[in-house]
Amino acid sequence: MTNFKTLAEFISHFHNEEVCRKHFEDVRFAGGDYCPHCKHNKIFRFKDGKRFRCDSCKRDFTVKTGTLFGESKIPMQKWFIAIYLLTTSKKGVSSIYLSEQVGVTQKTAWFMDMRIREALKQNKGKLIGTVEIDETYLGGKHNRKHGFSKKSAVMGMTERGGKLRAFQIPDRQTHTVLNAVTKNVNPKAYLMTDDAGVYRKLVRIGFKHDSIKHSRKQYVRGNVHTNSIESFWALFKRNYHGTYHSMSKKHLQRYIDEITFRFNNRQDSLAEKFDLVTLKIAKSDKLLYKQLTA
Ligand SMILES: [Zn+2]
Repeated sequence: MTNFKTLAEFISHFHNEEVCRKHFEDVRFAGGDYCPHCKHNKIFRFKDGKRFRCDSCKRDFTVKTGTLFGESKIPMQKWFIAIYLLTTSKKGVSSIYLSEQVGVTQKTAWFMDMRIREALKQNKGKLIGTVEIDETYLGGKHNRKHGFSKKSAVMGMTERGGKLRAFQIPDRQTHTVLNAVTKNVNPKAYLMTDDAGVYRKLVRIGFKHDSIKHSRKQYVRGNVHTNSIESFWALFKRNYHGTYHSMSKKHLQRYIDEITFRFNNRQDSLAEKFDLVTLKIAKSDKLLYKQLTA
């Protein structure tokens, strides 16, 4: 597919709208042509190269129809630059920065930002092997009146040497935490946590589990530690405090997905990351603006 190592190569490769559109068409129909309206596999291409017509339902469409790009008039080249910026920057970018770099209004940049982040959503499969689990808290000050209620709780779990997953949890009730574990982790996994009381119940629900006594300043005991997930929290908080100070609770999960995507794909080349996101967008179902803003 694409093969670039630098921003300069990226720009000279995707030097005009035609090349970008053709590239997205190749990605989208790599498994064969299909109509986004009725899934029929015979389509016609108009001479302008921009429009298609289905041989079965006779409806017209473009290469963007039915994808996260939607029917927006935003040129493909601008989308590509936005994907490049969002997936390759180490700390993420704000929509203000995106609007300046891509040359669109802040409102459009926010729209693009949200669409691309949709493609960065985490996979659903269950984690396996040695899995470290921990939570962290963001925002809000601890005070006597409100307790922790103003903070957002984020739960993280990572296969040691493998994939990491992170998501918001509504509270730290035992059933909330245990449900999150059973939903995301294979029952044969070997779990490692700190000694918080809630995790002692993991054995009761059938998991092999060991904990490290953080309350007694113990951090590593042989193979037992939670260093992988904790180093992710350090990175996560640098992102959170450095770039997204005003992350609202409503959009927090999207930011978590973005940071997790960058972390999980940190070994990939620029081109691999770009291709992965472009492919996800090409395969995405239509996501209405309404759903994003609801
Ligand atoms: Zn059709």
